[in-house]
Amino acid sequence: MSEKQVFEVLNELSEKNDEHVEEFSDKLKQHLDGQDPEVTTILCSDSRVIQGKICGNEVLGREFSHERIGNRTNSLTLEGEVVPSGSIDYIPEHSDTPTGVLVIGHTGCGAVTATYDTIQSALKSEEVEEPEEIIELYEKGEIDLEDYTGETKGITTDIYLLMKAGLDSSYKELMDEDLEDKEMINRLVEYNVDNQVEFLKEHTDYEDTEILGAVYDMEGVYGENGGLYLVNYDGRSEIDELEQLFSDYSFVDVDRQDSA
Ligand SMILES: [Zn+2]
Repeated sequence: MSEKQVFEVLNELSEKNDEHVEEFSDKLKQHLDGQDPEVTTILCSDSRVIQGKICGNEVLGREFSHERIGNRTNSLTLEGEVVPSGSIDYIPEHSDTPTGVLVIGHTGCGAVTATYDTIQSALKSEEVEEPEEIIELYEKGEIDLEDYTGETKGITTDIYLLMKAGLDSSYKELMDEDLEDKEMINRLVEYNVDNQVEFLKEHTDYEDTEILGAVYDMEGVYGENGGLYLVNYDGRSEIDELEQLFSDYSFVDVDRQDSA
């Protein structure tokens, strides 16, 4: 893209911002005292997953949103400790009202695909025999993860954190099933959501907060392209149990690929 093209994109975005100002200027003035959102969403940064649009939210102060590749919930401290991200802690720790944390993965996720490729490439080398050894050897400084990711340090760190949340074990669980690459990756997308929910459950003690996991079906694997499917509630991922829990909520689509 040339400089001129980028400037044109910025110009178009700014034109849309003028429309936004017209619609939201007065509304914003009524929300300046603070916020008490009903839900924190964690989504992938993927440009085909339009964060504000997938659930049509246009209500100010309703949704606290956190976006980054692979919809991961963990961060690294200066000491190298893996902790929940501050962007996720923020509302549950500061809200005076019950709230929800909703982790949303998506089919066809590039970050999950990159992690899958990294594990495969490590297993093909002579240095690594089992998926879980990758983290161990990397933390001991015995392998260079960038050799397997072929990515920058930043992207490699994101891949490391996805494995740290359990994507390496998920890979191991699925590796002996006879799955095509694409199918395995989308199963890993679902397991990544489970892992992130589990990570938050284990590493937080939020009060009055429900933790849920869903998949945005970009590729139309569960049903229609664009559907949102609930796959996990508070660590519970049994389809029958989820269906029973949400039986009164007719718009909530409960589904899992591993239930098929
Ligand atoms: Zn993604």
